[in-house]
Amino acid sequence: MTELADLLRDAERVVAFTGAGISTESGIPDFRSPGGVWTKYDPREFTFDRYVESADVRRKSWAMREELFAHTPEPNAAHRALARLEQQGRALGVITQNIDGLHQDAGSQKVIEIHGTMREVECIGAAPRYGTPEGCGFRRDTEWVFELLDGGDDDPRCPECAGIIKSATISFGQMMPTDALEEAIEMAQRADVLLTIGSSLQVYPAAEIPMIGKEAGAALAIVNRDPTPFDGIADLVIHAGAGDTLGNAVR
Ligand code: NAD
Repeated sequence: MTELADLLRDAERVVAFTGAGISTESGIPDFRSPGGVWTKYDPREFTFDRYVESADVRRKSWAMREELFAHTPEPNAAHRALARLEQQGRALGVITQNIDGLHQDAGSQKVIEIHGTMREVECIGAAPRYGTPEGCGFRRDTEWVFELLDGGDDDPRCPECAGIIKSATISFGQMMPTDALEEAIEMAQRADVLLTIGSSLQVYPAAEIPMIGKEAGAALAIVNRDPTPFDGIADLVIHAGAGDTLGNAVR
């Protein structure tokens, strides 16, 4: 942990790359750990195409969202440490795979959400194909859908074009928005320290980002409870909880 504090103290352009593991201490389960979301819901059901094809899949998906929204999670020490680094002028920003909005809640200003946000919903069009949304541009807070669901509409439609409404997140089988990914790559290439926190580094193309930073000259530091496939090439690896590790390393 001292080593991480030393690395960060000398850094001027830290880029954090975060995954579900940074938010488990805020009470949001990750995908791969026991008790995670996917021990309860089958990920094969929630592909983009199945969502488009099946009203039943959409209903289950909204039920899962309502469950995730049932409590209001707070950012933890790790989110706050990253916000502090930015306030101290030593970070370029955060690239996150998370959809929970906790980096912004903690005070981070520059956050690239490469998998979208669960706090908003959007129109994806009536019958989009090839994993590519074709919506009319309609977008609202997720609470808007919950009100419709509570009112008895179990498959809400776009009020402007009657298209399918979907959480503004990237589903399995959905094309990643190229602008967010390009922005993330560009930021990673400018980093002097690429700090990966709470990601199994198994979801592509997102997991390539730390590698891109490393190849462009950044020191790669990995903070993750379990080993990752990138541990062997990292400059520093800490297998521990994100909150204590970051909270202690960034003062
Ligand atoms: P993952 O579930 O594949 O891996 C999470 C990793 O975090 C694991 O390797 C685990 O060892 C580690 N971890 C768990 N708790 C930790 C802690 N307290 N401190 C340090 N490490 C901890 O998650 P991923 O790599 O982000 O990829 C899965 C996908 O899941 C992503 O696309 C992400 O969008 C999505 N997801 C997001 C959320 C969220 O927004 N909070 C929650 C679940 C899944």
